Amino acid sequence: MSGSVSLLPERAPTVPSSGCSEPSVLRERGQHEVFCGLTGIVWMHRKIQDAFFLIVGSRTCAHLMQSAAGVMIFAEPRFGTAVMEERDLAGMADANEELDKVVARLLVRRPDIKMLFLVGSCPSEVIKLDLSKAASRLSKTYAPDVRILNYTGSGIETTFTEGEDRCLAALVPELPVSESNGPELLVVGALADVVEDQFARLFGAMGIENVAFLPPRRSGELPAVGPNTKVLLAQPFLTETMRELAERGAKHIPAPFPLGAEGTTAWLKAAADTFGVDPMTFRSATAAAEARATRALEPFRDALQGKRIFFMPDSQLEIPLARMLSRELGMEPIEIGTPFIHKAHLAGEIPLLPEGVVLSEGQDVDRQLDRVHAEKPDLTVCGLGLANPLEAEGLTTKWSIELLFTPIQGYDQASDLANLFAWPFDRRTRLQV
Ligand code: SF4
Repeated sequence: MSGSVSLLPERAPTVPSSGCSEPSVLRERGQHEVFCGLTGIVWMHRKIQDAFFLIVGSRTCAHLMQSAAGVMIFAEPRFGTAVMEERDLAGMADANEELDKVVARLLVRRPDIKMLFLVGSCPSEVIKLDLSKAASRLSKTYAPDVRILNYTGSGIETTFTEGEDRCLAALVPELPVSESNGPELLVVGALADVVEDQFARLFGAMGIENVAFLPPRRSGELPAVGPNTKVLLAQPFLTETMRELAERGAKHIPAPFPLGAEGTTAWLKAAADTFGVDPMTFRSATAAAEARATRALEPFRDALQGKRIFFMPDSQLEIPLARMLSRELGMEPIEIGTPFIHKAHLAGEIPLLPEGVVLSEGQDVDRQLDRVHAEKPDLTVCGLGLANPLEAEGLTTKWSIELLFTPIQGYDQASDLANLFAWPFDRRTRLQV
């Protein structure tokens, strides 16, 4: 392992009526073209402001992060890679000793770090470096000043949004036990601070006061959890995190996800119903913002109505996005590919998809590309690796990773979300001109 850590820098409440009940699912088990879970660090490091993500990986991992995070090169670096060298991989050096030295140097240089995630990669898994043991060994040295945790972002085990799921799941055992006698709301999933503030205000206006968010903005603000905790997922890819929270007694509130005006209302309504908020209070809290969002979507509906869209499996956001784009903007999903379909978490979404749409779970990239070529969709949502070749063939694409970098949840972001899908058409028109 190299001695240096390479550092980078809202009418009456709308209960959506269903378009289709149970679309058939095509299950694909072939070659994947998806980023690994390390990519989640790009948005997670911005969220927990005193955390640091130390990837225990190779130069490939460091390069991936440099490319994925290139846009943030001027930001204060809160992630880096402890690069494993050939000596580590060949077992000629004690990788644990090397890791301890790297962590020691990092924490001396960066006393602002209060939570350190050791993030596993393909190389650390291949040499079976046990990062959970390393985290507990290092915790003994650095507690209580620094909490040291671990999770895997390896491409062998995770697709790119699963990195966030593994990170949050690693936090759950650290959450204090709730001593609340009444219900408390825990919103789970990384949201931009501005979005989190908007939701906190809306919950407050509904009279739901006991609200916390996971992840927190600072590592010392971990929310409590217990049998009175009701969990509202803000992201659809948090399977492992929800399983860990359920083991702590928390209950999941089934809901669509807060994308678009309708989706945001349905998501807030699920919480309101769980907390016994009366319909009048709910409407007075949400009606103005919902109406504003609906108005803001109108120009995009004119531009996107009738456009056929194909989702390659990538972010796990595909099903909620297809629901929003079809119901609120009139787009026509042809196929909605997604790496995994967690039926319980998507129970509020799948019935709202249009009749006849193809759902596919998993990936067989060649077969999916054949279907893209046959269908010639107006827009293909896919990862960076597929976008360039498809653009070169004359197809219009949208990078799915942008949907994680950009605040898209909630009423005030509905038009930004729509704009992400309108922009590729605009770009192509300009290029043709
Ligand atoms: Fe590549 Fe694996 Fe490193 Fe991800 S974790 S960048 S897939 S080597």
